[in-house]
Amino acid sequence: MPRLTKTFTARFGHAPEGVWSAPGRVNLIGEHTDYNGGLALPIALPHRTRCAASPREDDLLRIHSLQDDAFVEVLIQDVAPDMPKGWTAYVAGVLWSLREAGYAVRGLDVVVDGQVPLGAGLSSSAALECSVAAAASDLFGLDLLGSVEGRSALAAACQRAENDIAGAPTGGMDQAASMHATKKHALRLDCRDGATTQVPFDLSAHDFTLLVTDTRASHALADGQYGARRDSCETAADVLGVEFLRDVDPSALDEALAKLPDDVLRRRTRHVVTEIARVDEVVEALRQGDLAEVGRLFTASHESLRDDYEVSCTELDLVVDTALAEGALGARMTGGGFGGSAIALVPAADAERVTAAIAAAFANAKLTAPISFSVTAAGPAAKD
Ligand code: ADP
Ligand code: MG
Repeated sequence: MPRLTKTFTARFGHAPEGVWSAPGRVNLIGEHTDYNGGLALPIALPHRTRCAASPREDDLLRIHSLQDDAFVEVLIQDVAPDMPKGWTAYVAGVLWSLREAGYAVRGLDVVVDGQVPLGAGLSSSAALECSVAAAASDLFGLDLLGSVEGRSALAAACQRAENDIAGAPTGGMDQAASMHATKKHALRLDCRDGATTQVPFDLSAHDFTLLVTDTRASHALADGQYGARRDSCETAADVLGVEFLRDVDPSALDEALAKLPDDVLRRRTRHVVTEIARVDEVVEALRQGDLAEVGRLFTASHESLRDDYEVSCTELDLVVDTALAEGALGARMTGGGFGGSAIALVPAADAERVTAAIAAAFANAKLTAPISFSVTAAGPAAKD
């Protein structure tokens, strides 16, 4: 018996009704665009979080994780901001927000086992939420996994759990990727209306691979800076008289920038507008099989995030610079920044050499050893 079901059975005295799982994600391009009504292009990772669960007749949630000693019991009716505290808020929040959205859910016995690195910018939080949401959908007969609309409803409930109960003010990209991204495809996500399009993404057909490097850096200023970037974007949109920076036409960018009162607002706006344009340029290059162009756009995105949006850091820049020096077609930070992970587009045959070069560069700079791994585009939340 796998460790997950064994632990479940030992803790609750009965076998789980089933096991559901959901992937982490890595965003190919389109960073800090979600809260600007823009575009993003994530893939689902092969790394998944599994959730063993059984429904209960009452309102009680009993939650345990193989990654944490905590065992928490909470009534769904008592779930509120910061209640329960810590990681169990992500689980309890999903049941709470499904009920808020009008779905008839009851309590659950839950044990989770996450393979997505925690806090690496690869969305272990969405993988956790979406695995629980998938379980709830099947166990309470909500029937939401079978349609795109149903999956969007589950993703929305997971985002609300993260925002309102866990207290993390994130956009909806992570949950959308975990619910909608399919094997061998990237997910073009329109964050304004939630529309999703599957874009073929199979680098192995070109003998290339996507190398992900978890820098294992997490800089304390991240939270406040995220809020500050959002505020700048709102201010710029207000000055320009648009709802979102998405509404600024890239071909009229210079005129828009001339209307902004200071250099910081101009640089933040230039990042957002050019980054949204780059997403569709990558989509087009992928459709053409033009990986050199995809790589060029990745690197342009990194430079924009580093210089205009100012959310990169030493570790992320070092991964990007080293990968490019070692022959990557392109590389960029991914996720919110100030730590987390970076991606590089490298010939499959060179992945080991690039990995070693990145490790050597970190050792040389006396930084914590990073972890690099090749990924393919995997499938969405589902029953195992
Ligand atoms: P990311 O989503 O990039 O991994 P977050 O800070 O959004 O980073 O989420 C990480 C948090 O999610 C962890 O600190 C922990 O609270 C929670 N988490 C995710 N997966 C698990 C798990 N399997 N067990 C316990 N907590 C988890
Ligand atoms: Mg997260």
